[in-house]
Amino acid sequence: MTPTAPSRPVLVGTSWKMNKTLAEAVDFVESLLAVGVPPSVDAFILPPHTALSVVRDRLPQDSRVRLGAQNAHWASEGAFTGEVSMHMVRDAGASMVEIGHSERRTAFGETDEDVSRKVAAALEHDLVPLVCVGESAVVRDAGSAESFVVAQVRAALAGVAGADSERILFAYEPYWAIGTGGRAAAPDEVAPIMAAIRRAATEVLAGPPVRVLYGGSVEEANALSLLDGAAADGLFVGRAALSATGFNRLIALCAGRSTPSAPLSTPIDREVQHAACR
Ligand code: PEP
Repeated sequence: MTPTAPSRPVLVGTSWKMNKTLAEAVDFVESLLAVGVPPSVDAFILPPHTALSVVRDRLPQDSRVRLGAQNAHWASEGAFTGEVSMHMVRDAGASMVEIGHSERRTAFGETDEDVSRKVAAALEHDLVPLVCVGESAVVRDAGSAESFVVAQVRAALAGVAGADSERILFAYEPYWAIGTGGRAAAPDEVAPIMAAIRRAATEVLAGPPVRVLYGGSVEEANALSLLDGAAADGLFVGRAALSATGFNRLIALCAGRSTPSAPLSTPIDREVQHAACR
């Protein structure tokens, strides 16, 4: 009989984008801690930079809730008015950093080259990069979604060594599925692109498969069909997880789901696999 690889916790995370005062951030974390995160889920929250340290202070030392930043600059320090560095977000409590969200790419002109520099800088500062990739409706309608996204993946990994494949997360977030006015995707629209992301990353890094999350209009009603139907390693959620109640519900829904990924061996897993539900 073939031994079955142990399944890894499902990743369920949310970015608060440009939302929440310090008091609101604390309320959210307290509600999250009061309910708890089951061992079969790795939760993460990405507050605005202003709330990182206050959230870090509220999370217990051995918390199973990972804290991350929504963006950071590739340079270590210097004359970059209004920016914060990877070193600074790490110092404020982040252990991961979102890179290349579609809003960064479209509203702030972030290029594939910027994304690549940020991924390298994140790894250098021992932060897990969560790299967002996705295509616009125009690109999808032209039949080029897969090649477009694969090019984003290859560009993001340009400066990455193979050994880092287990330290990187991707989130497939088609632009047309994100945010107010976004159309929820069907699993069969998502699954081939998720597979193409894994294939491309494996080709570039020649390492174990990277983990790929899905994001875009995820809510309770479609969370499990997207998770299972798109063979996702987890879900990255915006609006439906902006309240702690919504986030807690999605975590409970995903608890116990198996993921397509390989063995427990990454830093994110090692840190949490024996920790209590908290
Ligand atoms: C996002 O903006 O990354 C996102 C997933 O948002 P929503 O879930 O609100 O579509």
